Amino acid sequence: MDLQLDHGLAAKYSSSSQVARVLTEKWVSDQLYCPACDSNVLSPNPAGTRVVDFQCHTCHEGFQLKSQRRPFGAKVTDAAYEPMAERIEHDAAPNFVFLRYQTDRWRVRDVFFVPRYFLSPSIIERRRALGPKARRAGWVGCNILLSRLPLDARIQAVRGEIPISPDAVRTSWLRFAFLETKDAESRGWTADVLACVRELHRESFALADLYSFEGRLAIMHPMNRNVRPKLRQQLQVLRDHGVLEFLGGGEYRILLSLNGDESPQPS
Ligand SMILES: [Zn+2]
Repeated sequence: MDLQLDHGLAAKYSSSSQVARVLTEKWVSDQLYCPACDSNVLSPNPAGTRVVDFQCHTCHEGFQLKSQRRPFGAKVTDAAYEPMAERIEHDAAPNFVFLRYQTDRWRVRDVFFVPRYFLSPSIIERRRALGPKARRAGWVGCNILLSRLPLDARIQAVRGEIPISPDAVRTSWLRFAFLETKDAESRGWTADVLACVRELHRESFALADLYSFEGRLAIMHPMNRNVRPKLRQQLQVLRDHGVLEFLGGGEYRILLSLNGDESPQPS
């Protein structure tokens, strides 16, 4: 994988955001592969007709590219809120490619995928409507709340200018593909509980530790009044898929480390 961006393409464009767009899109078409199957090509969709920027012609997964010079923070602005919320509800949201580049040497620095099966209503935030003086007055955009996703949802393909092996990337992609079979609300619960588990930064934990997230989960899932049973149910889901094991007596141990290796740690 060559991380160099083709800066020669920049000459035709004046705005720096256009330059970044053109260069990083070219890089994805030339260098990136499909993480969801064994295809080594992501094909760009024609500009202007896009819901998704890239498509895998083998497994038909669509990918939206977000590229920027700064590190990705807690939230990333995305398109209009309503269509995105609907796409998530109807399992039609795109996968995302987050790409950070550096402009001093025009190189790709970090790339991570977020699979669409990790997208749920809890990680989409409605932005304030544009004011009456805006060209698109009343338009409502959305933010993707990266900070709410479990770290498992960020599948690194390039980290600090070092490409990760495609095999490892595809293994990580498949690890949580079981979420695809669930509706948006239930896969949101699984992802949100997993995010809480990861936030504990511990190899083993007690149910009581997770109950400390009860308030946050209640806000993220306003329609559900029974957070604790729901939380326990999600621990079973995570156990059934090999993410953690039950030690008995309300104690749990994480089996799946974040780089994707299943390596039980001595406790
Ligand atoms: Zn594919």
